[in-house]
Amino acid sequence: MKMRVLTNWFVLVVFAFLLSACSQESKVIALSGNTMGTTYHIKIMPGKKAIDGKALQVRIDKALEAVNDQMSTYRPDSELSRFNQMSSHNTINVSPDTVKVINEAIKLYKITDGALDITVGPLVNLWGFGPDKRPVTEPTQAEIDKQKARTGIQYIQIDGTRLGKTHDDLYVDLSSIAKGFGVDKVAALLDEYQPQGYLVEVGGEIRLKGTKDDHQAWRIAVEQPSEEGVAVQQVITPGDMSMATSGDYRNYYEEDGQQFSHLIDPRTGYPIKHRLASVTVLNKDCMVADGYATAMMVLGTKAALALAKRENLAIMLIEKRDDGFKVFYSDAFKPYVSVK
Ligand code: ADP
Ligand code: MG
Repeated sequence: MKMRVLTNWFVLVVFAFLLSACSQESKVIALSGNTMGTTYHIKIMPGKKAIDGKALQVRIDKALEAVNDQMSTYRPDSELSRFNQMSSHNTINVSPDTVKVINEAIKLYKITDGALDITVGPLVNLWGFGPDKRPVTEPTQAEIDKQKARTGIQYIQIDGTRLGKTHDDLYVDLSSIAKGFGVDKVAALLDEYQPQGYLVEVGGEIRLKGTKDDHQAWRIAVEQPSEEGVAVQQVITPGDMSMATSGDYRNYYEEDGQQFSHLIDPRTGYPIKHRLASVTVLNKDCMVADGYATAMMVLGTKAALALAKRENLAIMLIEKRDDGFKVFYSDAFKPYVSVK
């Protein structure tokens, strides 16, 4: 949902992998386009039902447009923007999809001890990573306190599909989870065609099903987190799962040699600052994987691994050390690690 200034190299690695595995006679349909300030790539292997690629892409674009119209903070007339603009005296009726995503985010807020907080928007904007402009100088403590006072999940009220708020200045930002939801939406659409398999990717978040055209399982390369160059850290075989990756090494800005992350710790109001460089989360639903990936980055290595253990989550963490990278897997992740 936000503009990404830098190319998503992670995705390039994935597709380089796929290309090498594609045969000449392949009936695979490959579609790509733009959405949510980023790109999407889809590969679908038809099953018995024939698929008209052009007609399918029209449906996909429509589905992704609908998610933008529901949840983008970059669109002033989206459902979410209209909710953000209204006062606490009003309520607004929104789509079941928007309510579903907000409910999931609230659930994840509780499970992650507040690391994922969709009301953190004012702080995201203050630090220059929202639809507003990037700040010229680092905000003062007073400014941070002022914006932090506007945050709090308890200010959101949900009654069926009607949303209300108990704080006039509440501002909800679904960027951390909406891309994953978009992937789930497209996957559900593809399921209607009963395909042999597919790969859906939006801005680096992925959902997989079935097999590739050569009847082999999908293999996904997780990139080594570095600012320049592309190197594969690990190849994984997720099966019929979703995979989300959150990283801090390309989406940041620098001031006086200091780097500021686009992820904010809602508990302090400051951008995160630790050695954890990338998090990969596997989950059935991409929305859930996406939300967890952001939360795990905020939590840092120790708390992320503890949470993964408690909730039996499949996660892979890459820490940047002076002498290279250190990789951590939760127990639930280990079965997905491919042996080359
Ligand atoms: P990544 O793919 O790097 O995890 P996402 O795109 O999933 O990033 O989510 C990052 C976006 O979520 C930020 O640009 C910001 O709009 C918002 N955000 C930042 N910090 C948080 C947080 N702690 N909880 C929820 N949303 C956040
Ligand atoms: Mg995320």
